[in-house]
Amino acid sequence: MSENAVKKFTAPEEDAMIAEAFQDVLNGYLRSKHRKKAEIIERAFRFAKSAHEGIRRRSGEPYILHPIAVAKIASQEIGLGSTSICAALLHDVVEDTDYTVDDIRQHFGPKIAQLVEGLTKISGGIFGDKASAQAENFRKLLLTMSEDIRVVLIKMADRLHNMRTLGSMAPNKQYKIAGETLYIYAPLAHRLGLFAIKTELEDLSFKYEHPAAYEEISRKIAETEARRQKVYNDFSAPITGKLCELGLKFEAKARVKSVYSIWKKMEAKHIPFEEVYDLYAMRIIFDCDDPSKEKSICWNIYSAITDIYKLHPDRTRDWISVPKANGYQALHLTVMGSDGNWVEIQIRSRRMDEIAEKGFAAHWKYKIGDSDEESELNVWLHTIKDILDNPEPNAIDFLDTLKLNLFASEIVLFTPKGELITLPKGATVLDVAFDLHSEIGSHCIAGKVNHKLVPLSYKLNSGDQVEVLTSQSQTPKPEWMDIMVTAKGKTSLRAALRKERQPAINHGKEIFSHFLAANGIPDNNVILTKVLGYFRIANREELYYQLGREEVLLDDDVAKMLKKFGKKQSSKKSIFRKLVSFGKDASTGAPETESESKEAVAPVNTKKTYRLVSDENGSNFRRAACCRPIPGDDALGFIADDGVVEVHDMTCERANTLKAGFGPRIVSVDWSGVSGSFPVHIHIEGIDRHGILQELISMISSHLGLDIRGMNIQAKGEVFECDLDVRVADASTVNSLCSRIKKIDGVQSAARIR
Ligand code: MN
Repeated sequence: MSENAVKKFTAPEEDAMIAEAFQDVLNGYLRSKHRKKAEIIERAFRFAKSAHEGIRRRSGEPYILHPIAVAKIASQEIGLGSTSICAALLHDVVEDTDYTVDDIRQHFGPKIAQLVEGLTKISGGIFGDKASAQAENFRKLLLTMSEDIRVVLIKMADRLHNMRTLGSMAPNKQYKIAGETLYIYAPLAHRLGLFAIKTELEDLSFKYEHPAAYEEISRKIAETEARRQKVYNDFSAPITGKLCELGLKFEAKARVKSVYSIWKKMEAKHIPFEEVYDLYAMRIIFDCDDPSKEKSICWNIYSAITDIYKLHPDRTRDWISVPKANGYQALHLTVMGSDGNWVEIQIRSRRMDEIAEKGFAAHWKYKIGDSDEESELNVWLHTIKDILDNPEPNAIDFLDTLKLNLFASEIVLFTPKGELITLPKGATVLDVAFDLHSEIGSHCIAGKVNHKLVPLSYKLNSGDQVEVLTSQSQTPKPEWMDIMVTAKGKTSLRAALRKERQPAINHGKEIFSHFLAANGIPDNNVILTKVLGYFRIANREELYYQLGREEVLLDDDVAKMLKKFGKKQSSKKSIFRKLVSFGKDASTGAPETESESKEAVAPVNTKKTYRLVSDENGSNFRRAACCRPIPGDDALGFIADDGVVEVHDMTCERANTLKAGFGPRIVSVDWSGVSGSFPVHIHIEGIDRHGILQELISMISSHLGLDIRGMNIQAKGEVFECDLDVRVADASTVNSLCSRIKKIDGVQSAARIR
C-alpha cells in the first residue's frame, strides 16, 4: 500500500480483507502447540472489530487490521497463547473507544482484562512533552511488567507493528517513535531474549533515523547477494554433504548481518562497507527428539566441519555446557573458508534455535525447568520492584537510575578514602578487589562493607562503602569465576590462574608432543583440532592443562584416530595466497645441495662427539631432508648406509625411529665447524591492524644477516598469516628474529616451522 495516499476499498472488499487477516492468525494459532481455545479468540476478534468499527489508521486502512497484526506477531513470532492473542486483539479498545476494563472483564474474564489494563496504562510513549511524564510512563511500563511479563511481550508486538508501518506517520512522529524504539524497546527485546525482534526494531529505527545510510547499505547487501550466495554455497556444500552422510536431519542457512549491525561495525571501526568481511555466518539447526543427545550431536558436527576446514583455535564458544543468562544455548566455532575469510558457524538443535529466536517465551513451549528459567527473570523483576517501591523518587532521577540499572546496569561504590568506583550491577567484593589491582584480587580473603565483615561473594549495592582485606597466604581459585561479574576482573583472574596452572600446562604440553612424536604424528593445528574435537575441549591451553592433571588421557584409540586422519590430510593443498615475493628463488621446496658431502668419509667413531665441518671446501655430513636442522639446533648424527653422517633434529620423528632401531649407528654431533647460511621457514600469525604489514616487512628486511628468499602474506578480515622463507647462519638468529617479530603490536605468534 502506498504510504500517504488513502486507498479506497469497497466495504465488502474491506470485510474480506479483515476476515482473511484474522483467519491467518487463527490458523497459525491452531497449528501451534498451545491448547486449542479458538472460541474465545474468535469472540475477542468480533468484539474488537465492532468496537473499532468505522475507525481508520492514518494510512487509511480499517483500524482493526492493526490489532490483528499485533495478535499475529504475538502468536507467530513470539509464541504466545490464546490469552495473549485475545489481549492483543483488544489492546487498543479501552484506550480508543468507550469500552472500559470492566467491560473486558465481564466478557473475557479477569486475566485478559488485566493484560488489557496493563497495555492501556503504558499506551503513551516514554517521551511525552514533559520529562516527568516520560519517567512516569516508564515507571508504569515497568510496574505493569513486573505483574505479568506478557504485557511487555504484547507491547513489544504492538511496537514492532507500529515500526513496520511507520512510513504512514508524519515525519516528526517517525523520529520520536524510532528514537524511543532504540532507547527502550530494542534493549528490552534483547534482555528478554527476543533476538529476531530486537534486530528488526533496530533496523527499522535505523531506517528512519539515517535513511541515506540505510538505503546505501541495503543496496550494497542486495548487490553483493549473488556473489555472497555463491561463496556461501561453495563453503557450505562440503559440510552439508558430510552431515547428510552422517544421517543427520538438519537445516543449514547463511545468516547475513543486519543492516544496523553492519553500520555499527563500519562506525566503530571506521571502515567502509567493503571491509566488513564477516557479513555472513552459517547456522546449522538439527532435529533431535532426545535433549540428552543434543550435546554429543553438536560435537559430532563440530568434528565433521573441522575435518573440512581449518579451525580458528581461539573462537570456539561452548554455550551448551554453560548457557548464557538469557537461556541461549549453542556451539559456535570459526573456521577459515576457502576464500581465506573467517566464517562463524553456529550449531544448534531445533529446541535451542527456538529459544534463541523467541527468547524465554519458547521455554514455556518446551516446559523444561520452569522454575530455573523463570527465577532469573524473577530476580530481575524484583530488583525493578525494589527501585519502584522507593517512595516518591524525583521523577527525572528515577528515569536515570532506572536506565542505568537496567541497561548499563551500573552501581557506584566508595572506597574507605571516599573515591568512587563504578561497577556493573551484581558486582561482588571480589570484583572490587580485582578492580583495584590484580595482586589485591589474587590475595583477597574478605571484605568490609559499611564497616561490617562480608564474604568475597557479597553482592554490593549502589552507595556501599567497600574495604578489601587481603592475606599473603591466599591464592586465586577457579571457582571465583562464578562470583565475579566484571570482564576486567575475570580477565585478571584468568591471568592469575594461568600462572597457577602453568606447571600443569607445561607438563601437559610435553605429554602431548611426546605422544605425537612417539606415534609419528605431525604436530600441527589440524591434528590439534582433531584432538580438541575428540575430547570436546574448547582450546589448546585447556587441553594441555587437563592432560597435565591427567584428567584426560592420550591412549591407543587417539593415536589410531590421528594416524588414520594424518594420511588423508597430507594430500591437502595449502590455502595461502601469494601476495608478496622477494628474491629470485622464492620456492621453498628446492633440494639442499650446497652442504652435501662430495666424497665418502672415513668410518665414524660413535663413542666420541662428531664435529660437523662445512665450509667452501665441502662438508663431512648431510642435513636430513625430513627435518633440515641448522647450526645451533639440538641434533644427532646417524651413520647412513653410504657411511655419511646424516644430521637430524632431536625432535624429528624419523630421528626417534632411528634411535630406537639403530642405536649403534647414532653419534652425538657438534656444530662448531659449520659456517654458511641455511634456509628456514617461519610462520607468523596476528591480528590485523592498519600498518602492521609494513612494520613487519620493514622489521624483517632491516634484520642483520638475514637473506629473505620468499614471503607469503595473507591478510583478511581481522587476522593475517605470514609465511617467510629466509636464509640464516644459525638457530639463534631465527630465535632472535622470532622474538623481535613477536614484539610487534598485534603479532600473536612467530615460530620456525620444520
Ligand atoms: Mn496498538
